[in-house]
Amino acid sequence: MSDNAIDVDPGTVYLVGSGPGDPDLLTVKATRLLEAADVVLHDKLPGPEIIDMLPEDRREDVGKRAGGERTPQSEINERLVELAREGNAVVRLKGGDSFVFGRGGEEAEYLAAHDVPFEVVPAVTSAIAAPAVAGIPVTHRDHASSVSFVTGHEDPTKEESAVDWDALAATGGTIVVLMGVGRLPDYTEALLEAGMAPETPVALVERGTWPGQQVATGTLETIVDARDEAGISPPAITVIGDVAGTRESIVDFLQTDYGTVEDEA
Ligand code: SAH
Repeated sequence: MSDNAIDVDPGTVYLVGSGPGDPDLLTVKATRLLEAADVVLHDKLPGPEIIDMLPEDRREDVGKRAGGERTPQSEINERLVELAREGNAVVRLKGGDSFVFGRGGEEAEYLAAHDVPFEVVPAVTSAIAAPAVAGIPVTHRDHASSVSFVTGHEDPTKEESAVDWDALAATGGTIVVLMGVGRLPDYTEALLEAGMAPETPVALVERGTWPGQQVATGTLETIVDARDEAGISPPAITVIGDVAGTRESIVDFLQTDYGTVEDEA
């Protein structure tokens, strides 16, 4: 038995977060479960290095269907139940932490409703780790006493928008936006309209801890241009607030093993 051995229960689903992408940032438990599972269901977000570690005969990519469109969540839920009922120990592997914008909650509810036992294995979320490896602490005694994690996927001008950008601007804390590359112009505008200072520092961290990590920095006013100049594309985290300025004062000593680190002021 290897040091990594762990007992898994047949017919059980393990909702496992894979962390931001560097295999060294997998939890010990995640690593052990990946070795012991009968089958691992994953999409692209765990990142190329972790996906390459998964044995090909025990993994299923449920990210995209043939034809390229996203697999509906209902299909993934059904597949989890089916595999568990066949007696498999199933790992559902999600990028970051499964319960942070990872649909882990929906999967847990579905499994419970279908009498399938499951375990939740928490992980390092990209919402904290991607800023961290770029030299940005999401809180700092001098700069931010609170942090909000929000989705940037929604149209901020939509009447029924689930994210209250005015309220976020008023907190004075750090705002970390996930899924927010495309709508960056919309929500930076919404925050400016809500009265946030145009010179508020903003950073974008693309593929944090993956090979080829990229960082772009600017302000609420300049970050859209910086995004375009650096060619930032998903997956990326947006960090808004004074903490984003910390990077500048520490970056020269920040030892990063991850790809190139580029800045646009
Ligand atoms: N459960 C994940 C988030 C899933 S939502 C977590 O806890 O990290 C998908 C979004 O996560 C992406 O649009 C991006 O904003 C962010 N993301 C995930 N991995 C990332 C990474 N390595 N670097 C930067 N952003 C990442």
